[in-house]
Amino acid sequence: MQLSRLWRGLALSLAVVLAAVAQPAAARTLTVLISIDGFRADYLDRGVTPVLSGLAASGARAAMRPSFPSKTFPNHYTLITGLRPDHHGIVENNMEDPAIPGVTFKMSNQAAVVDRRWWDEGEPLWVTAERAGIHTGTMYWPGSEADIRGIRPSLWLHFNAGLPADARTDQVLAWLDLPADKRPDFVTLYFDNVDTAGHYYGPDSEELNKAAATVDHALGRLVEGLKARGIEANIVVVADHGMAALSEQRRLFLEDLVPAEDIRILSSGAFATLYPVPGHEKAAEKALVGKHDHLTCWKRGRFPWRYHYGKNPRVADIFCLPETGWTINSRTNKVWVEKGTHGFDPYSPEMAAVFVASGPAFRSGVKLKTFDNVDVYPLLAKLVGVKPQRNDGRLGPIRPALKP
Ligand SMILES: [Zn+2]
Repeated sequence: MQLSRLWRGLALSLAVVLAAVAQPAAARTLTVLISIDGFRADYLDRGVTPVLSGLAASGARAAMRPSFPSKTFPNHYTLITGLRPDHHGIVENNMEDPAIPGVTFKMSNQAAVVDRRWWDEGEPLWVTAERAGIHTGTMYWPGSEADIRGIRPSLWLHFNAGLPADARTDQVLAWLDLPADKRPDFVTLYFDNVDTAGHYYGPDSEELNKAAATVDHALGRLVEGLKARGIEANIVVVADHGMAALSEQRRLFLEDLVPAEDIRILSSGAFATLYPVPGHEKAAEKALVGKHDHLTCWKRGRFPWRYHYGKNPRVADIFCLPETGWTINSRTNKVWVEKGTHGFDPYSPEMAAVFVASGPAFRSGVKLKTFDNVDVYPLLAKLVGVKPQRNDGRLGPIRPALKP
C-alpha cells in the first residue's frame, strides 16, 4: 500500500517533469508584423536601409498595391483583416456613418478611435488569435485601442506619436522577455517617421532618407534582440501606401467646379469627400459627377470596379479623385505646405507599398510580382496558425515566397 502510493507519487512527478520538457518555452514560431507607414516600395533600393535590405535578401520582397483609398487607417485595417475597406468599414481616415449620427470618425477623435462600432465590421487577426488561445501584442496598429468584437490584444498600448522608434522595438523585446504563459506569439510594430517626413519634405528629400534610416536602426535592434534571445521569428514588413510629390503647379480648387453653398467638404487633399447641402443635391451632382481636367468625381456606389469601393454607407455621397500628384482643396483652406501625400489611385506606382518577409517560413532571394494588400492576411493567418476569417485575399500571389 505504502509502496504503491510512493510509486504513484513518483510517476506523477515524472509525468509533470516530462510535460515540462515536452513543452519548450517557444512552442510556436513568433510572427512579427511591422508597418513602416508610407514606405514606398522603391525606397528599399536607396541604400539607406541595410537591415531591411538584408531581410529582403534572406527572404522575399515585392511592391504591394494598397486598397482604395490609399490612406493609413483603411489600409492598416485591410492588412490585418484581409478585407477591402468597403467590407471592413474603415472606408477613410475621416468618415461619417448614418447609423452613428453626430460623430465624425477621425484619427484625432480619440473617442471614435476606441469605439468598436467603427471597427466591428471586420475581425483583425489578433482577435481571431486571442480567441484561439494565442497571446498577441500590438505595439501600435490602427484599431488595437478598441475592444473589437469584445476582444483586445493581451498586450497593447494607446498610441503615442512621441515614442521614438527604438523605444517601440524595446517594448516588443520586453514583451518577449515575459514568462512563457504571458509571452505573445504574434506581435505588431508600427513606425510613422517615414510617412511624416514624406508629407513634410517630400518623397525625394534627404529628411525622408534619414527617417528611413532611423526606422531601419530600430529594425536592426529587433533583429539583434531576437538573435540574443535565441528566438526564431517570421518577420513581415509592410507599408500601408506610398507617397507622391506635390507641386504648387498641380492644385485644383472645388470653387472652380461647384458653388461653395452647394456642398459640405469632409476631406480634401489627395481627394475630396463631399456631401451635397440638403436641397442642393441635383446642382452639386450635376456640377461634380464625371470627368474634369486632372480630376474625376463619382457618386457613392458608382466607382470603377477595380477600386472595390463605394457600397458601404460610410462612403461619402460624392468622391473626387485627382490624377496622382494633384490636389483638390477649397480656396478657404489655409495655405498647405505639404511636399508629399497619398490617397491617390492605388494603381499608380507612387502609391506602391513595400513588402518584405523573412524567417524560417520563407525562401531566400524571392522577388514577387505586385500583389494586392488583401493577400497579406491569409499569409499572416498561416504563419500564426489560425483559420482565416472570410476575406478578400488569396495566398496564391505570395505562395512562391514560402518554403514547401
Ligand atoms: Zn499611412
